[in-house]
Amino acid sequence: MDSQDYIALEEKFGAHNYLPLDVVISRGEGVWVYDVNNNRYLDCLSAYSAVNQGHVHPKILGALITQAQKITLTSRAFRNDQLPFLYKELSELTGYELSLPMNSGAEAVETALKVARKWAYRIKKVPRYKAEVIVAAGNFHGRTISIVSFSTEPLYRDDFGEFTPGFVIVPYGNAQAIQNAITPNTAAIMLEPIQGEGGVVVPPAGYLATVKKLCEKHEVLFIADEIQTGLGRTGKLFACDYENVRPDIMIIGKALSGGFYPVSAILADQPILNLIQPGEHGSTFGGNPLGAAVARAAIEVITKENLVENSFRMGEYFMEQLVEIPSPHVKEIRGKGLLVGVELKREARGARRFCEALKNNGILAKETHDHIIRFAPPLVIDRNTIDWALERIRPVLMME
Ligand SMILES: *Cc1c(COP(=O)(O)O)cnc(C)c1O
Repeated sequence: MDSQDYIALEEKFGAHNYLPLDVVISRGEGVWVYDVNNNRYLDCLSAYSAVNQGHVHPKILGALITQAQKITLTSRAFRNDQLPFLYKELSELTGYELSLPMNSGAEAVETALKVARKWAYRIKKVPRYKAEVIVAAGNFHGRTISIVSFSTEPLYRDDFGEFTPGFVIVPYGNAQAIQNAITPNTAAIMLEPIQGEGGVVVPPAGYLATVKKLCEKHEVLFIADEIQTGLGRTGKLFACDYENVRPDIMIIGKALSGGFYPVSAILADQPILNLIQPGEHGSTFGGNPLGAAVARAAIEVITKENLVENSFRMGEYFMEQLVEIPSPHVKEIRGKGLLVGVELKREARGARRFCEALKNNGILAKETHDHIIRFAPPLVIDRNTIDWALERIRPVLMME
């Protein structure tokens, strides 16, 4: 079978909820992926940062195989011998006392919202069902009906109502707007410290710290969605670390499993997470032994291989070199660590054609929105590979 045959098959039998680049990948190793014709590409998306540890990392693979041969799913009706260690290791890594495991990122976001609402009613004494959560325009927190209820992207939202009430949307990066939106019924403010899907939007310095102070002043929870930015992607363990902000609830996912298996979680301290009592929330697969074993290995790789530091250093180098390219199309280059967005001028006629050209040069990157190319390679990338990539990115950014 040729690439075109796979594509035809997919288009015939699959729902059309994505518009992928036409590359059919059949295997990967580290920063590289290979298509069905054995062409090699540098992966500069890392499955939206789920593969921070690199493709098919041997340690995580080993953990997956070993655990799959023992037991994969017990459900939480019974205990298993992996989950306690995942809890402990997450706590040691992040400093949070407790965690609650889920599968997809969207489920973890829903979990955080449920916890925040319960906290508002039980602790803050907000009148029943009046709790409000403040979110930012341009957000991306997932695809459930409640989450798209507060999306500002028409594509994600139109035709999917009726929507879940209780959300207030303010402009991103503007602390004053948050101050103005806080009411006695505000339960939480939920933000991405950098908006990844929104176009690698980096808020003004001091924004997160100011918002955290507002939260403390008004008895409001700060929820950070670090599903994409967390676990080293931005050159710190969490992007919030840049402003020494410790959110009340931290949401993680994606790289928590190194791309092997969906594992997500929310992290918080006892006074908040202990509000959830037996039976009030759960998931058949959340906290299963296979996922827990995979997540434990994925975390170990991040720490043992110093991926956070590597992300910081390589990201700095990559951005320094990118801004040197005298491209007529580039409006702005921004990001932190290895989460880099190249915003093109409107006259550049869209990022898609640049992503197609990059693909033809052996680099897989994905546009976010119409005008932004996101570069987010696995955090195991080295300087030579970045140089290799720059040699190929340069002519693409210089093309007509
Ligand atoms: C990817 C992502 C999600 C949703 O995660 P899924 O696993 O796709 O449900 C939520 N928030 C952010 C910031 C993300 O990048």
